[in-house]
Amino acid sequence: MSNLSLLILPGDGIGPEVMAEVSRIIDWFGAHRGLKFDVSEDLVGGCAYDKHGAPLHDDTMARAQEVDAVLLGAVGGPKYDDLDFSVKPERGLLRLRKEMDLFANLRPAQCFDALADFSSLKKDVVAGLDIMIVRELTSGVYFGEPRGIFEEGNERVGINTQRYTESEIDRVARAAFDLAMKRGRKLCSMEKANVMESGILWREVVTRVGADYPEVELSHMYADAGAMQLTRWPKQFDVIVTDNLFGDLLSDLAAMLTGSLGMLPSASLGAPMANGRPKALYEPVHGSAPDIAGQGKANPIACILSFAMALRYSFDAAGEAERLEQAVNAVLADGLRTADLLGEEGVQPVTTSEMGDAILARLDASD
Ligand code: NAD
Repeated sequence: MSNLSLLILPGDGIGPEVMAEVSRIIDWFGAHRGLKFDVSEDLVGGCAYDKHGAPLHDDTMARAQEVDAVLLGAVGGPKYDDLDFSVKPERGLLRLRKEMDLFANLRPAQCFDALADFSSLKKDVVAGLDIMIVRELTSGVYFGEPRGIFEEGNERVGINTQRYTESEIDRVARAAFDLAMKRGRKLCSMEKANVMESGILWREVVTRVGADYPEVELSHMYADAGAMQLTRWPKQFDVIVTDNLFGDLLSDLAAMLTGSLGMLPSASLGAPMANGRPKALYEPVHGSAPDIAGQGKANPIACILSFAMALRYSFDAAGEAERLEQAVNAVLADGLRTADLLGEEGVQPVTTSEMGDAILARLDASD
């Protein structure tokens, strides 16, 4: 197999701390499992602004377009709060997402058994939960025109436009069906076809795409009912596909069923490249956590699980992804907790690198 190219962008705050643990894990897979990565590292966010006066240098952007996958830590911090909007750290991340045209945002909600007590829901509702929300990321009401605040008579009116083309719905639906094929072969599409024309078209196109995936059981649900079902009995779902706005809300809701921000990975995928792999950016859901940066308190698991997603979705290494997820599971079952996961009495927190050590030891044991 040719080498797998990976661009690492640790970013700001706890980004470099959690990414240091991922780098050790990448090396482990190279040394023990024959996965040879060409890893390059670069700047994004505030640190890129400090060096280049922009949160993402053009050369970094060009490199991101070439590699098999980009892995990002987090960007931002109080030092950059007063910068002009155009050069804020977040703009670097938005530029990556936009120019790579990453239209499918994958947000898993997976509950590790050892952390089931962290959920605000009852343990039996969340234990063993493993669902995936696919959110359309580059269109819909956050981008539709017209938009703005306008004068109308003697008052102002705020306008945003929900707009979806058939091809935009088609491509995100296909991404979701492809995922469902690799998982439990169940897909639920959520919209508001009862009150929105864009929802009627969404349902029509998803149904049409479904004809190409006869093995996947397709269902449709209004997004508000979906929110209720997600909190009532989330395990009824496997993959959910929805638009940008509903996906924003539903993916946060589903993710938090499972506990801490320090545990949540994500992937954003675009169209296939010449080698057949999708353009891809993997990142933890959390931010740069300036309140704990530099103290060895950050939980590296969200970033580590983001790399597991890269193994599965960019590098066709689902077995190795599972190996890594099992190692995380085992370490949590052993009772290891970073400070964000404390709650049980008498448990002493481990540091970021101690959590990395323990996961590596579990990987060694699995080899
Ligand atoms: P945050 O996610 O950085 O932190 C929220 C809370 O969760 C904090 O108390 C933090 O200590 C804790 N936390 C987050 N990740 C953790 C981890 N891995 N381990 C342990 N605890 C963790 O969100 P915020 O405080 O709203 O934002 C801080 C900065 O991050 C801001 O500059 C914001 O713009 C930026 N941000 C960046 C991203 C990104 O890069 N994708 C996302 C969200 C926020």
